[in-house]
Amino acid sequence: MTCREFLDYIGAYLSGELSEAECRELRVHLDVCSQCVDYLDSYQQTIRLSKIACCADSDPVPGDVPEDLVKAVLAAMKQRPIERA
Ligand SMILES: [Zn+2]
Repeated sequence: MTCREFLDYIGAYLSGELSEAECRELRVHLDVCSQCVDYLDSYQQTIRLSKIACCADSDPVPGDVPEDLVKAVLAAMKQRPIERA
């Protein structure tokens, strides 16, 4: 595997979409290429940071939000069509 291939696969690797054999190839490359180890590190860090940012948006409602507003938001959410995966 080349670094170029590694970069192509890294997203799928981290989201668990690769087969066993493909994962093994990535790990073999990581064993021999410190550059890609570094890249993987920063890639994961970026993902972690973006997840933290997402979580901050969906934090539990702070206590100072008016009850009526919470109810209005909940009602609006119920009206949205259910999204099926
Ligand atoms: Zn590499």
